[in-house]
Amino acid sequence: MVKAIVGANWGDEGKGKITDMLAEESDIVVRFQGGSNAGHTIINDYGKFALHLLPSGVFYNHTTSIIGNGVALNIPYLVNELKSLTDRNVPMPKILVSDRAQILMPYHVDFDTYEEARLAGKSFGSTKSGIAPFYSDKYAKIGFQVSELFEEKDKLMEKIENVVTLKNVMLEHLYHKPLLNAEDIYNTLMEYKEMIKPYVTDTSAYLHQALKEGKKVLLEGQLGSLKDPDHGIYPMVTSSSTLAPYGAIGAGIPASSIQDVVTVVKAYSSAVGAGAFVSEIFGEEADELRKRGGDGGEFGATTGRPRRMGWFDAVATRYGVRMQGTTEVALTVIDVLGYLDEIPMCVGYEIDGKVTKDFPTTAQLEKAKPVLKTFPGWKSDIRGITKYEDLPEACRNYIEAIEQEIEAPITMVSNGPGRHEIIHRVSSYSK
Ligand code: GDP
Repeated sequence: MVKAIVGANWGDEGKGKITDMLAEESDIVVRFQGGSNAGHTIINDYGKFALHLLPSGVFYNHTTSIIGNGVALNIPYLVNELKSLTDRNVPMPKILVSDRAQILMPYHVDFDTYEEARLAGKSFGSTKSGIAPFYSDKYAKIGFQVSELFEEKDKLMEKIENVVTLKNVMLEHLYHKPLLNAEDIYNTLMEYKEMIKPYVTDTSAYLHQALKEGKKVLLEGQLGSLKDPDHGIYPMVTSSSTLAPYGAIGAGIPASSIQDVVTVVKAYSSAVGAGAFVSEIFGEEADELRKRGGDGGEFGATTGRPRRMGWFDAVATRYGVRMQGTTEVALTVIDVLGYLDEIPMCVGYEIDGKVTKDFPTTAQLEKAKPVLKTFPGWKSDIRGITKYEDLPEACRNYIEAIEQEIEAPITMVSNGPGRHEIIHRVSSYSK
């Protein structure tokens, strides 16, 4: 049985908490894309943690955590993240790393940083974790797969020389930065080999066997639908697919094995980096929501930078939910909205005088103006409520309006950052 957990929006939907909850019921948790560029915030008995590369299953003794082939594997980062857990008394988790995962190199981080500096005001707002240069190299077939660390030196050196030749042209003539040296890269790779050796395995074969034995597998997505390079707000996207179907590829399992797609949807909007954001709000209104948002404010888990804020965007979310192949929705941070007299929701986009509910391509999106509908607020603190019927009527109305707009059943409502602050609900929604 394979379940995927993914985001419908721009990321930061509160996936960490829901993932942690679902991880508790899983035997295996797999990261299938991205790298250390986004963070999950998890609060549990050990404290508050921001995980960037490790799967969310690491806090449970009964789960195996897998870094799948689709991940941008920053080896020292992984080792440090593991250490940061054990330093805080979390027992050493069982980790497996795919022998087909590719290695994020220090020069990927450098290139990311140099390119953002070159673009200056027109930059993508990268976290400078090396993700775009990493995936570019993977698809240009000049990346290093973990398995290659265990092959003969000559073969590896030949490949390194080629990489160095290509990279040095850019370093010398475009960025005017220090050049790469083949021997240094080889030595780095050999250090990485020693660090990663204990974890490397054929994770696809491992998962194949686990599925045969009826184990429960959770595919853990990072970011959200709108950051997908194909279906998101290109070019303001990430460099690997954020969609649940890619979970099969990035983990090495059949697509047909994914039976349940839990899509996390946020009760208001937030985004980081540049790009069109139709329901964005500004000034005091935004500051207030940012300050009250999430657990201790809406600030990046990786960078600490303030997130852009907006009202719930039904157009973007409906699309995001559809692209994920959603079977059920977890709606998060609804408690945050308890301070508002009225809650605006973006239910359409006006583009060149026409109103649409279909999410457009980026150029059209940049012209879109939000069509807002206002809902009465509930003006109360709903944290601590455990039954759906006990929520104020205005709150239920808002939730059910979202459900109608996004055309998918909301089965979980999260009303606080804690792991057990969740309301399960049988949805009467039918298409
Ligand atoms: P992720 O990357 O999708 O996991 O999102 P974040 O790390 O940005 O998580 C959002 C923040 O909101 C975290 O600090 C969570 O602890 C917190 N959070 C998650 N669900 C809820 C919720 O229902 N209510 C509140 N108030 N905070 C939540």
